Amino acid sequence: MITVTGATGQFGRLAIEHLLARDVPAAGIAAVVRDPERAADLAERGVEVRQADYDRPETLPAALRGTDTLLFVSSTGPDDQRIVQHRAVVTAAREARVGLVAYTSLVGADFNTLDLARVHRDTEGALAESGLPTVLLRNGWYTENYTAALADSVARGEIVGAAGDGRIASASRSDLAEAAAIVATSEDQAGRIHELTGDSTWTLPELAAEAARVSGREVAYRDLGGDAYAEVLTGAGLPDFVVSLLVDSDVKVSKGALAAVTGDLPALLGRSTTPLADSVRAALAD
Ligand code: NDP
Repeated sequence: MITVTGATGQFGRLAIEHLLARDVPAAGIAAVVRDPERAADLAERGVEVRQADYDRPETLPAALRGTDTLLFVSSTGPDDQRIVQHRAVVTAAREARVGLVAYTSLVGADFNTLDLARVHRDTEGALAESGLPTVLLRNGWYTENYTAALADSVARGEIVGAAGDGRIASASRSDLAEAAAIVATSEDQAGRIHELTGDSTWTLPELAAEAARVSGREVAYRDLGGDAYAEVLTGAGLPDFVVSLLVDSDVKVSKGALAAVTGDLPALLGRSTTPLADSVRAALAD
């Protein structure tokens, strides 16, 4: 059984699609979700839907029973909460005698300067201490972190941020989910660390230029610096911890924190990663 947590999230759903596309039988996949109603479509297709909540540790061992490979999708929320949640999943995976844990970490987690690396370092540490066979899917940035709101940016004529002309080696969320499905269906993964980035880099001014090219409208990039960017994000109603995370990541991207290109993702996929131009076209398609 391949068990996927966060299965009603964007990454978890894509990972299940990629598992099915790789001919894993639906009955061989368990989707761990907080709200089974939101996974009714998966149940209809024969995926076993199991209810659990990272915040209710008592729900986890049963949801992980019989798992050969656990695709442990990291949680959302403030860091301190995520650390507790992730440790609960590790404890439950031990209790359920999971065969292999594939954890969605962060690229270069052991030295990455982003604040959010702390959660991933802690979880990687908990996994190492647990003695569970583990493979690390150290995901780089999703391109969608910057293209999800692109249509609005195009309508406004500008993208704002604090990443300057820092280069970003992003990959599409689907590329990374496909890599997770490949790892979950491959032999000899225990102990491996996959540093998963796109195979080329881009900057926010380049994203604006691409958005302008695709939309046929004027789109500029305006760098606000960290403080003014935080004000914009707070004004848009984002919770404080999200504002901190986004500002921290943009400021550190400006210093090259996500610029490194590794070859691991194209090697796993057996193809190039999705180019920025394709992601921009998809984001502006509707
Ligand atoms: P989503 O926000 O779409 O999905 C997050 C998933 O985590 C959801 O399925 C959510 O459940 C689940 N979850 C949250 N809290 C709990 C909980 N208490 N118990 C059980 N499940 C919970 O994010 P993505 O799918 O896009 O990304 C997956 C993960 O990757 C994120 O959670 C985050 O850790 C990380 N991430 C990585 C990024 C990158 O650029 N590499 C960018 C953003 C996030 P539910 O469906 O019920 O809400």
